[in-house]
Amino acid sequence: MTPVEGIQGYIVKILLLGPQGAGKGTQAQRLARITGARHIATGDLVRAEIKARTELGRIIREYNDRGELVPDDIVVTMVMRRLASSDSWVLDGFPRNKAQAGALDDAMQAAGCEFDAVVALEAPDDALVERLSGRRTSETTGAIYHLSTNLPPADDPGPFVQRDDDKVENIRHRLEIYHQETEPLKDYYARGGRLLRVDALQPIDTVTGTILRAAEEPPVPTKLPRSASGRERYAHAS
Ligand code: AMP
Repeated sequence: MTPVEGIQGYIVKILLLGPQGAGKGTQAQRLARITGARHIATGDLVRAEIKARTELGRIIREYNDRGELVPDDIVVTMVMRRLASSDSWVLDGFPRNKAQAGALDDAMQAAGCEFDAVVALEAPDDALVERLSGRRTSETTGAIYHLSTNLPPADDPGPFVQRDDDKVENIRHRLEIYHQETEPLKDYYARGGRLLRVDALQPIDTVTGTILRAAEEPPVPTKLPRSASGRERYAHAS
């Protein structure tokens, strides 16, 4: 994380991994607000495309409604366009599988960039189901709240709506896909010495603080031999 002189903010590249309901969106919004980075959430990009009723939106909708992943080529194109126009970002909901992680690594290497932090938010499935079924999004501000743990402030007029895919019957299916497709990425990033595991059930401020502290440490290279951790490699280099 590099402070930027003259304007308020930091150059930061943070990747947030984690199951639905672990608080990726909430944390990404907070981190983006604090650092001035761009919050890139593939779920939001997908929903915006559907809402705009484009041809692409019509195709995407079928996957989204079933709680399934949108094809990689579509999502990768959407994300790369955003990454290319911003050097400071918090990425939320991408990558979701190894093919997407590979595409991101290639793009990072081509641009000569490194992650400041790769964070896995972790929580048991039952807690996630409880969180997701109480989640509401403000249609006015896009902010995310919870019916019992994170009520909207008085200055957010709402209305506060529940996403279709947050209905209980869809949540378990989405978590299954997470465990099958996305969770293996924790090993992928851990092998490169880049992964910070964070207990997502801690208070919101504690989680944000932990991520920011990790991002303040020296960046680690995007690709490493399996035997060397990023921190070791950095220590040798300095
Ligand atoms: P989310 O808000 O992150 O839970 O995403 C909502 C939906 O958007 C998912 O259920 C997928 O259909 C789609 N989606 C979001 N991110 C991705 C991704 N990286 N790859 C494929 N589909 C995605």
